Amino acid sequence: MKILVLNSGSSSIKYQLFDMRDESVLAAGSVEQIGEPGSHLSHYVRTPLAEMEKTIRTLPIPDHRQGFELISAILRETGALADTGELRGIGHRVVHGGEQFKDPARVTPAVLAAIRALIPLAPLHNPANLLGMEVAMETAPSVPQVAVFDTAFHQSIPPHAYRYAIPKRLYETHQVRRYGFHGTSHRYVAKKAAEFLEKPLNTLNLISLHLGNGASAAAIQQGRCIDTSMGFTPLEGLIMGTRCGDLDPAIIFYLARETGLSSGEIEAILNKESGLKGICGVNDMRTIGEMAGSGNAEAQLAVAMYCYRIKKYIGAYQAVIGELDGLIFTGGIGENADFIRAGCCENLAHLGLEMDNEKNIGRRKGCFALENRTSRVKILVVPTNEELEIAEQTVVCLGAE
Ligand code: AMP
Repeated sequence: MKILVLNSGSSSIKYQLFDMRDESVLAAGSVEQIGEPGSHLSHYVRTPLAEMEKTIRTLPIPDHRQGFELISAILRETGALADTGELRGIGHRVVHGGEQFKDPARVTPAVLAAIRALIPLAPLHNPANLLGMEVAMETAPSVPQVAVFDTAFHQSIPPHAYRYAIPKRLYETHQVRRYGFHGTSHRYVAKKAAEFLEKPLNTLNLISLHLGNGASAAAIQQGRCIDTSMGFTPLEGLIMGTRCGDLDPAIIFYLARETGLSSGEIEAILNKESGLKGICGVNDMRTIGEMAGSGNAEAQLAVAMYCYRIKKYIGAYQAVIGELDGLIFTGGIGENADFIRAGCCENLAHLGLEMDNEKNIGRRKGCFALENRTSRVKILVVPTNEELEIAEQTVVCLGAE
């Protein structure tokens, strides 16, 4: 059973083709710089020796429709897919599902309209996601399509955690509340952690830390998300590559008064020039680790601030979640940066978290555990796989019809 997963951005479409019988990746790639000079296709296909063979083509790709047709053609040419009719379904990543979408949804005109109505909440992402769905539906009309939402996993968060302490009319009229993002990743790693621990997910209390260029924490009680660090937008919460995370909102008004910067300019500073980059000039954690190791004080401060913020969330979530079973690290930083994992767990023995420093060194394949023998809480590295989760959700959604 083949499932194609599409992640459509404003100028790119990323794709992965899965054989769901064994969850293997048959092909993957992206079309990038759509409508711009230098537009190109990168395609990887699994060879009979189970290696991935790469093709790159630079050619004009004027719009998403041509991009999708190119993807269908290269899947055919490389033998990964004889015809789109061979697909059981297409799963689409959709960033914002608002309060309406608590689960994946079969794409229908009504669902497209509902996603369109949510554009004000995700003006950069939902339009591009919609475009991907529309083009795929036009080009492959007989293939069932499913929208999988980044916000859906967080829809179990109760009002006392998702409401902000601002006038209720702003929630009722303008939908201002915590939504949270990275839900597909948090859901996937929680599921994998449960498999690794050989316990049903609905018996586990977990804190999941998705630490990539964007970063967020999720508090998962008995398998359901009860709080998350990203909020109305992905700007809130942990320190990220270029986003500030938690901030006194009065800073924005102060900056506007003192500097004359517009709200758009301040928004750009907080999203694109802040976080790790704002603290030490660099947003790549590999480079920051090297700089910190060779004595750069700003990089050392960036690492200290990054880990301190995470520790505050671990403490806060432990307070509301009850007895914690596991702490999960995932994302490019969570999976690879041992010095960050060590910094986040340092001196947390009083909360039941004790890392074995030897086990923490480096990265291994698949899930692995980092806690020592006396730790009450399991500390796990779980590689995320949002595309596979979208494919699995697509199968579940179509199977339930
Ligand atoms: P993601 O957005 O999940 O791809 O994660 C990107 C982040 O992971 C960047 O900050 C990378 O520097 C970081 N990263 C990837 N590999 C490593 C590594 N081996 N050590 C430290 N950070 C890494």
